[in-house]
Amino acid sequence: MQEQLSAIGLFSFVLISHSACFRKSVPRIVYFTSNGVFVKSLKLKAPAKINYLLDVISRRPDGYHDLRMVMQRVNLCDDIAITLTDSPDITVTCADNGVPDGPGNIAWKAAGELLALAGSIQGATIHITKNIPVAAGLGGGSSDAATVLMGMNELLGLGFSDQRLMEIGVKLGADVPFFIFKKTALAEGIGEQLRAMPDMPAVWIVLVNPGVHVSTAWVYKNLQLTNRVELAKLPYFYGSIESICSILSNDLEAVTIPAFPVIADIKKTMLRLGATGAMMSGSGPTVFGLFQDRDMAEQARDVLADGTGWFAVAVETL
Ligand code: ATP
Repeated sequence: MQEQLSAIGLFSFVLISHSACFRKSVPRIVYFTSNGVFVKSLKLKAPAKINYLLDVISRRPDGYHDLRMVMQRVNLCDDIAITLTDSPDITVTCADNGVPDGPGNIAWKAAGELLALAGSIQGATIHITKNIPVAAGLGGGSSDAATVLMGMNELLGLGFSDQRLMEIGVKLGADVPFFIFKKTALAEGIGEQLRAMPDMPAVWIVLVNPGVHVSTAWVYKNLQLTNRVELAKLPYFYGSIESICSILSNDLEAVTIPAFPVIADIKKTMLRLGATGAMMSGSGPTVFGLFQDRDMAEQARDVLADGTGWFAVAVETL
């Protein structure tokens, strides 16, 4: 669709020319016209997240868990193209086999929510290029949904505040509000109560996903809650990579590592290769390592990718 539109468009122009989210400037809303028909389209980046900290506080009667997380966005991004259509249908396409196309896709649900709230008779086509590994503890689906909420808000000219979008987003998934918040955050409740963390230095991160299948539901079901009532105090100031590493912790490793020892092996290898700290992200299986500089991170990535068949990338914090 996108290619067709580009090919047949008699002219197109950029309405807003800078992305607020990322360092590179990218075109925002683009209008195409063919045979006198205008089509509104938007291309956006949906970043992954890692958890510097993930404490499971308690089980809730509704099946969710109360958590305390420190969440950080990184510049490994899915690409999302959204086009408003005159027909009321929503179409989601994605070449990744692990990602559902239709209403099973969380991005489909996000578009449906905003079209319904807008009372719009229009529909949307959404194309997702997955660069974030699926079911990896990197929040890819939630980020896609958050990005579609923000994109549809812009395309439909709704003017909903981020707070409103976060309230809509939490009904789609507990991590969705974080991606609308767009800052390194302390997340509490099921993940929806967000507070900005103090500024942290930008660091290089190596992400390694060994490709083992870890079900988030299985992890939370098998979790042994400790009686720990005292939570670690978080520093107020993060001046160095060491201070970030001082908070690294993930209660879910106690479930995943015995079942998937490869996660512990990757952590050890990262530390041997010079990482200042390493931890599993979310419910896994992706492991992240924090590195002082780009060269060290890229060397570690190359070693970890070599002959293993693992997904390995070096990225920066956002
Ligand atoms: P969670 O911890 O919430 O499971 P995750 O980051 O580990 O998140 P995701 O990549 O978000 O995992 O995928 C979780 C599941 O959601 C997958 O099994 C996938 O089939 C489904 N899914 C639906 N929509 C998407 C999407 N847009 N991108 C990725 N997965 C999606």
